[in-house]
Amino acid sequence: MNLIDVHCHLNHAQFKEDLPDVLNRAKKAGLKAILVSGVNPPANREVLQLAQKYPVIKASLGIYPIDALGLTPDAAGLPHHQGKINLEEEFAFIEKHKNTVVAVGEVGMDFFWAEKEKTFAEQAENFRKIIRFCIKIKKPIVIHSRKAEEECIDILEQEIKNKEIPVIQHCFSGRKSLMSRAAVLGHYFSIPPNILRAGNFQTLVRKTDIKQLLTETDAPWLSPYQDQKNEPAYVLESVRKIAEIKEISVDEAADQIWENYERIFS
Ligand SMILES: [Zn+2]
Repeated sequence: MNLIDVHCHLNHAQFKEDLPDVLNRAKKAGLKAILVSGVNPPANREVLQLAQKYPVIKASLGIYPIDALGLTPDAAGLPHHQGKINLEEEFAFIEKHKNTVVAVGEVGMDFFWAEKEKTFAEQAENFRKIIRFCIKIKKPIVIHSRKAEEECIDILEQEIKNKEIPVIQHCFSGRKSLMSRAAVLGHYFSIPPNILRAGNFQTLVRKTDIKQLLTETDAPWLSPYQDQKNEPAYVLESVRKIAEIKEISVDEAADQIWENYERIFS
């Protein structure tokens, strides 16, 4: 069985001590690729180093919307960036490494950590620039849209014509009508293992063609087990739940998701 985690943060402080063990457990569980997502310039550099060190790790370099504004809260456990991010400089860095980088993300908009009234214009402008950059370098884009699902879909719809690049909605928490809108636009949804407890992800899986589903962990967050940090091996929980909802075997679900991964990221 080939398993895939398209979004996690193995450069987080919580993995400083046990990364080799975490990767061993991932390997045993069947993980064939683990996309580690950057959120800002120092994090992106760490992600590239991890990808160079461990073949199973693939680099997804990103510009988190809150980091782009220079509003990141301290002690997030990820490398901290002071002040606003210079997008053009970071685009140049990503482009320079585009043979190693498999996707751009996480990127998008967030009105949970930043007030919409004060930051919409700047977040939207940054997001548009990032989408245009992804189209230019022809990379899949991994979307973070906390409390900004509709706004992100609006902008993605305006900027991406004819499905030029794959769009992966990470941890999508929009309402049902937005699930349908994104699905019609051809977006993919990556499903985290807390689907075991989260009814909205179960609905998302029920409503979406399996050809548009992927799996992620967002580790160390979104654990399927309340008292344990999350890790890539737990994508198996997402696959099991997807299999149950779609009424197919776990092997069939894993095969289809792996096929999706290869089609999207090759
Ligand atoms: Zn994340």
